[in-house]
Amino acid sequence: MKNSSYTIILFYKYTDIEDPERFAQEQRIIATKLGLKGRSIVAKEGYNATFEGKNGNIEKYIEELLKDPRFKDTHFKKSEGTGSAFPKLSIKVREEIVSADLGKSDINPSKMTGKYITAEQLHDLIHSNKEFYIVDMRNDYEQNVGFFKNSILSGMKSFRDLPKTLEKLKDLKNKTIVTVCTGGVRCEKASGFLVANNFKDVYQLYGGIVTYMEKYPNEDFLGSLYVFDNRLVMGFNMDDPKREIVGKCFKCGAPSENFINCKDGYCHRHFIACIKCLKGEESMYCPVKCRNYKKEHKIPLKTKMVLGMDKFRTRIFNTNPLKLAFRNFYTSLIYS
Ligand SMILES: [Zn+2]
Ligand SMILES: [Zn+2]
Repeated sequence: MKNSSYTIILFYKYTDIEDPERFAQEQRIIATKLGLKGRSIVAKEGYNATFEGKNGNIEKYIEELLKDPRFKDTHFKKSEGTGSAFPKLSIKVREEIVSADLGKSDINPSKMTGKYITAEQLHDLIHSNKEFYIVDMRNDYEQNVGFFKNSILSGMKSFRDLPKTLEKLKDLKNKTIVTVCTGGVRCEKASGFLVANNFKDVYQLYGGIVTYMEKYPNEDFLGSLYVFDNRLVMGFNMDDPKREIVGKCFKCGAPSENFINCKDGYCHRHFIACIKCLKGEESMYCPVKCRNYKKEHKIPLKTKMVLGMDKFRTRIFNTNPLKLAFRNFYTSLIYS
């Protein structure tokens, strides 16, 4: 890491948390005391988090968490911070630490998951003559800006599409598969899901792409890594002349990694647009939906009022999942 006085950490741990509410509260207290910002999810099945803080405070946080026997072997992925990667601190209690919504076929990664393969082992494998397949378990928009050379892109819109990958991978049941994702947490479930569906030789990249990139920057993983914070993309040794840009501007097709977060408060779609094609207010809206929507329909005052109320309701009912589900459904009606 270079000169930044901020560090961003990414980590998860599948472990039994008996009282998630209480654990979340303890986490809020310590994270607030250390001035950390970021997002985390606590569930009975474990803990998944990303935080940013001053270098020293992040070290203190890690030290504290490692004292807890449930987290003693947690793997922390670190990268250079900006000081503004997250707007606030949010620690939530949920059913799962990564929502896959697998229902009855849900996987408990502490019981069933793929075998771990380290970054070093994967590097050896890539540079060997062995037959194997890297399956990228991230979402389609994440893959737009970076991916492993020759990997199979899951093409999922969200992690809930996991069951749909079975059809795409059906010919690989007897082959060696290595699943990859940002920091590893999605692969715990995704690789377990493949094992449960009779895939014979499934590995998952330990520590995720971020760990691989840190060890072998600009080698086998092309482009940049999409991340779920205000940085949007990250990489290592970004000035390296052998670094390739694989992202493309949605409009002119020029190589670009300039990710735009659709300005519409309810959309948040991500798209890549080069500086040239970003002109004026309108270009900040996603081309798929909001740009046309805004052009073709002027939003009537009544809808605006409903949306305003909706924001108000979100603030009040944020913690009630039933009401939140209703709100999402309601918003989707307005926007579909
Ligand atoms: Zn362009
Ligand atoms: Zn949009």
